[in-house]
Amino acid sequence: MKKFKTVIAAMMVALCALSAGARVKYIFYFIGDGMGMGHVNATETYNRDVLGNGSPILMMQFPVATQVRTYSFDRSITDSAAAGTALSTGHKTRNGMVGMAADSTSVCSITTPLLEAGYAIGIASTVAGDDATPGSFYGHAVNRGLSGEISAYAPKSGFSFFGAPVFKGMKGKDGSKTGWVESMKEAGYAVVRSFSSYSALSGDTDKVLMLASNPQGEQVGYTIDSIPGTLTAEEITRTALAQLYKEGKDNGFFLMMEGGNIDWASHANDGATVIREVMNFQKAIDVAYRFYLAHPDETLIVVTADHDTGGMALGRSGTKIPDLSLVDFQRISKDRFSDYCKSLIAGGGEPSWDSMKTFLTENTGLWGAVALTDEETARLRDSFEAAMLSRKSADEKGLYNSFNRFSVDVFDVINSKYGIGWTTGSHTGNPVPLFAVGRDAMLFTKALDNTEIPQLILKAAGIDSFSR
Ligand SMILES: [Zn+2]
Repeated sequence: MKKFKTVIAAMMVALCALSAGARVKYIFYFIGDGMGMGHVNATETYNRDVLGNGSPILMMQFPVATQVRTYSFDRSITDSAAAGTALSTGHKTRNGMVGMAADSTSVCSITTPLLEAGYAIGIASTVAGDDATPGSFYGHAVNRGLSGEISAYAPKSGFSFFGAPVFKGMKGKDGSKTGWVESMKEAGYAVVRSFSSYSALSGDTDKVLMLASNPQGEQVGYTIDSIPGTLTAEEITRTALAQLYKEGKDNGFFLMMEGGNIDWASHANDGATVIREVMNFQKAIDVAYRFYLAHPDETLIVVTADHDTGGMALGRSGTKIPDLSLVDFQRISKDRFSDYCKSLIAGGGEPSWDSMKTFLTENTGLWGAVALTDEETARLRDSFEAAMLSRKSADEKGLYNSFNRFSVDVFDVINSKYGIGWTTGSHTGNPVPLFAVGRDAMLFTKALDNTEIPQLILKAAGIDSFSR
């Protein structure tokens, strides 16, 4: 079986024939998971109206801005696997499939011809490194849930950098270790857990695997929760860049960096957390932008998204005047607040409404800076009694979390105060934005299909025949 897989891998490389010409040497591909135009716009409004910045957020300052169609082979609304496959291989495929065409044949990611052309390759994310988006850049599976199959491609990838809080393939279904990290070490990867531990490596370390020392489930942890010692998108990007760009042995690089928890917060319909994560993603983009300023003729930065999650919009029925200044009073994500409610229930006893109100005032501004009407207070009180005392109301199941019903109602009220509307807890068919700067950024000017983006990146890299 192992030999068979090796033969298949060799055939895949042979199929990805290429010819190289003049090229962009340094390529950054940022994918904000779930980051629709509404997410970017709400963040920009916060940046302008609340932070008082005269210039738009960095990605909106790029000279190229357009929109991208995201539908998959079999659905008008894509999932992350089909979208990731489109963005990495240029193929429309069925929802759920990673690195495979709709007929279940494996297809090449652009990382294969780029690697052959001498580019150092880095793959990074703020969520699991073998989840659908990053997995599409090196793995193949008929279903995104087959993380053991996806992560097994990483040790033999030849990539210079993998960075993510965790890989799902590190653990089996029963929670026991699978030996995946050891297989990465055997393949030559040095494991680091911070930029400073990376800096302690010798300069000629060829391959690096960055993991989090305190992952929050399968992500780095939300910015809004201010968890000490978490890995950030900025730190992962900085470490990736240090590994991929080494003066003296520099043949160019390609880095894909995913802002994965933008999607998680959007599935939760948690507006302030989305805004914080888009701002946080900006810091990672800024690492690339500063590199671009030092290498303007050789660098291309493309920022886009795989799909829109939640249909987030500034403007909501029942809210006359949106007020994003209230975002600054939220200091807890919906996920963590739901966990807090569940912990109170699990602890037994009767949670008190007064102490819950105090907690919410301190962590969200409700009944403090965020004034509530009597009707809104009554609604939350009823919800509290049903969810926390009589426990009659069922949790709301999301993609990444199951939310305590009281937390759902609290955050619905909070979002109404911000004036942030949501159409769904899932993905939408909205187009997503694309921003580009640097050499060959003008290739991306027209309205695009997601399958065109990897082709254009290869074109910028001077790779004009990519037989897939
Ligand atoms: Zn996604």
